[in-house]
Amino acid sequence: MSTYPALHLLIGGNQVSGESRKTEEVLNPATGDVLGKLPHASADDLDAALANSAKGFAMWRTAPVEQRAAVLTKAGALIRERAGTIAEILTLEQGKPVGEAKGEIIYGAMLLEFYARELPGIEGRTLDRPEGKRAEVRYEPVGPVAAFAPWNFPSLNIARKVGGAIAAGCSVIVKPSEETPAAALATVQCLLDAGLPGDVCQVVFGVPDEVSRHLLGSPIIRKLSFTGSTAVGKHLSKLAAEDLKRTTMELGGHGPVMVFDDANLDKALDQMAANAFRNAGQVCVSPTRFLIEEPVFDQFRDGFVERVKALKVGNGLEDGIQVGPMANSRGPDQIERMVKDAVAHGAKLLSGGERIGNQGYFYEPTVLSDVPVDAEIMNEEPFGSVAILNRFAGEAEMVAEANRLPYGLAAYAWTEDAGRQERLIAQVESGMLAINAGSVSAVDMPFGGVKWSGHGHEDGREGIMACMVTKSVHVG
Ligand code: NAD
Repeated sequence: MSTYPALHLLIGGNQVSGESRKTEEVLNPATGDVLGKLPHASADDLDAALANSAKGFAMWRTAPVEQRAAVLTKAGALIRERAGTIAEILTLEQGKPVGEAKGEIIYGAMLLEFYARELPGIEGRTLDRPEGKRAEVRYEPVGPVAAFAPWNFPSLNIARKVGGAIAAGCSVIVKPSEETPAAALATVQCLLDAGLPGDVCQVVFGVPDEVSRHLLGSPIIRKLSFTGSTAVGKHLSKLAAEDLKRTTMELGGHGPVMVFDDANLDKALDQMAANAFRNAGQVCVSPTRFLIEEPVFDQFRDGFVERVKALKVGNGLEDGIQVGPMANSRGPDQIERMVKDAVAHGAKLLSGGERIGNQGYFYEPTVLSDVPVDAEIMNEEPFGSVAILNRFAGEAEMVAEANRLPYGLAAYAWTEDAGRQERLIAQVESGMLAINAGSVSAVDMPFGGVKWSGHGHEDGREGIMACMVTKSVHVG
């Protein structure tokens, strides 16, 4: 079993800590125990990181594509090698089952390796011009990036934010969540050990609002990349707008799952029941609002509840656990409030609905049905261990409900009807749509939302392009 490591900042390639800095406790969500003390960056630390980032960008932007690709490939290999250790650290600080943690970490390695393969293909173009003239479109790195990553995927979010930036030739200062610092540091360490210069990727921690104001207040930073809640995303967008910095925003969602009467119900149930409680539901693309066509409602509901009741909840480090604790005390507080509110509005509680035990942040996987549209949980992202099953008369009503909210991240549909599949692709307002499939993630496909779920992408070629700007060159 890995021990929880000492925590530090990473500035200019140096591990920085020290008694003079403010510290914050990191807790184990399964037990409430203190795992370690995290140093906060001082204003001087942040200024040093900014100056290093400017130097790092000046150097890295000219690094040949082959060098950048080699670092990404080697970092992928190191992440794979260290995945077992990083997974245990991740579970200690975040809670998810250790097998799930390992899957997250390996996905990050696959993404870095994909970026390495994709990079040489990203070229500008030369246009037709008369003899003696030239017209070229070139892509250039945008500049130093400030990246703020959340606690739900502590390792993958780093691979996404740092991977895209450094592939493009940018430097990056990343502030992972203060609640899950060790897995983030271990992931960045793989990049540094793979040969990434220390000025190109630095890690800071602190009071989020203070760090983001400091970094975004500097003209050195040319792009902001944020994953987190829509409320914070709107706030950071305004700060970035003061200096017209570019932004990528990966924000909240409230994933509709349309289950039609011609669906393969067994396949839908097997994939969606497990998916709804992955990472205790703390996933931006979680399937949360199940919109089920009336003729198959009872069968789907019974199969869903049976599967959810069989889920094994416990400390993510123990064998056979499928659902760990929620990652912080805010999780069960929020779900408890939303479930009570739904029941008060007339929803049926089919399973769960209670906290578990008297230590850590455990909450039973919970299923609600027939939830009225004015309940809070029908309008706000639950981000926890709860699924909503509601019945619908047919396609038009289901699409209207799917599109009712201002969110538009992931949507899911289960139907064998090819004509209907095409109509859904055209009508559903979401950045990602899975049809007869349980996942919207693949390293070579862009990941991102529309409406209040944000803009811009990570993963896919778009994840690199998000950190590039276009230059038109006219030669007379
Ligand atoms: P939150 O909005 O306070 O924090 C979300 C993340 O943003 C955290 O990592 C936090 O450190 C960071 N953050 C907060 N304020 C910031 C600031 N001013 N500058 C920079 N970073 C800042 O909420 P929370 O309680 O941690 O999570 C609650 C909600 O956040 C969830 O219900 C969900 O909607 C959303 N969330 C979404 C994702 C996602 O993957 N899209 C991930 C985590 C949280």
